[in-house]
Amino acid sequence: MKINTKCIQSGYQPKNGEARILPIWQSTTFKYDSSTEMGMLFDLEKSGYFYSRLQNPTCDAVAAKICDLEGGIAAMLTSSGQAANFIALFNICPTGSHIVASSAIYGGTFNLLGVTMKKMGIDVTFVDPDADEKTLEKAFRPETRAVFAESIANPALTVLDFDKFVRLAHSHGVPLVVDNTFPTPINCRPFEFGVDIVTHSTTKYMDGHAMTVGGVIVDSGNFDFVAHADKYPGLCTPDDSYHGITYTEKFGKLAFIQKATAQMMRDLGSIQSPQNAFLLNIGLETLALRMQRHCENAKKVAEFLSAHPKVNWVNYPGIPDSPYYEIAQKYMPNGTCGVVSFGVQGGREAATLFMDSLRLAAIVTHVADARTCILHPASTTHRQLTDEQLNECKTPADLLRLSVGIEDADDIIADLSQALEFL
Ligand SMILES: *Cc1c(COP(=O)(O)O)cnc(C)c1O
Repeated sequence: MKINTKCIQSGYQPKNGEARILPIWQSTTFKYDSSTEMGMLFDLEKSGYFYSRLQNPTCDAVAAKICDLEGGIAAMLTSSGQAANFIALFNICPTGSHIVASSAIYGGTFNLLGVTMKKMGIDVTFVDPDADEKTLEKAFRPETRAVFAESIANPALTVLDFDKFVRLAHSHGVPLVVDNTFPTPINCRPFEFGVDIVTHSTTKYMDGHAMTVGGVIVDSGNFDFVAHADKYPGLCTPDDSYHGITYTEKFGKLAFIQKATAQMMRDLGSIQSPQNAFLLNIGLETLALRMQRHCENAKKVAEFLSAHPKVNWVNYPGIPDSPYYEIAQKYMPNGTCGVVSFGVQGGREAATLFMDSLRLAAIVTHVADARTCILHPASTTHRQLTDEQLNECKTPADLLRLSVGIEDADDIIADLSQALEFL
């Protein structure tokens, strides 16, 4: 099936006489005829549902759809994008380990890695994703267990050089984990370029309507954890909390997601609710259609802003002016995302005046949904960061992040145009 078809058809396939539309299995628990049978589920000897903190059929169907869109072998929904990134990394990076992460990442993830995980004894080295390989090499340590980056960074809009990062991670015997929230699998499928694990905040384009917070982890099944067994005892040696099961022995290529479900989700409990998964699934059905329109509109908006005398700079990887245009053409030739960043003349104050003058574009702490919205990261999502840190993560203090919606492009441009007149 082509990706547009998968958006509609993948995941839930009703059998004869069953509901045509994915049902919401609104149940915390599942009934069994014998305690022996349920015991086998607890021992991971049999697969099946018993408690929705671990698995639920509605959530599994939606995870299966996203897994198919990404071309992975297993996936797990989480309560949020934050939970997805935390669980994906914590699943293989215990206390005492180290992560190499791109500095051009979402502010929430920057804090998760740089503050909270650091407190848990997991060290991180942030690197400039555009640095050359020799410089990036220096960030690795014997205890490095993963490399993390975003395919298109939010809000910096840097596009990841997949070949470079895959080479770096694999030459050090660790997997590359990529947050693919912005391009979505419609525009970019990182597994095709050698990435091992993909995460998403499904809150963004996948849901697409700003209805539900959620996340997902997808595994390609390609990283050979057994070949690096000394680095990944959590996957390759017996788990005491499951009577000595060794995930890689018992589940082979499915080990990563099995451990994330059976151990991480069991203990941390950041599940997506079946209701939210149902809503997410409706969003996914139109993902291909919406991404196309988001990208068309964003390109028109970026071209308009680029030509405007009151706009200092524009960054959109889908136009030739962008330093990331060529790399975007290589990895996502059909489109990038609907987010455009720019700076207006007059810096911080002018940015505020401009935002307050908009009528159609709303000021919200959100990005990547059907409605055009705008945010000033330095005074909101990135408020905790110093100016130096802002520059480090390629989000300068004057950056405005415009999330171009799927309204008519003419109306979006007319709104921007009238607001620029106030400057
Ligand atoms: C929003 C976002 C997150 C965090 O996701 P939540 O669903 O808000 O927890 C992580 N990564 C990227 C790229 C994001 O845009």
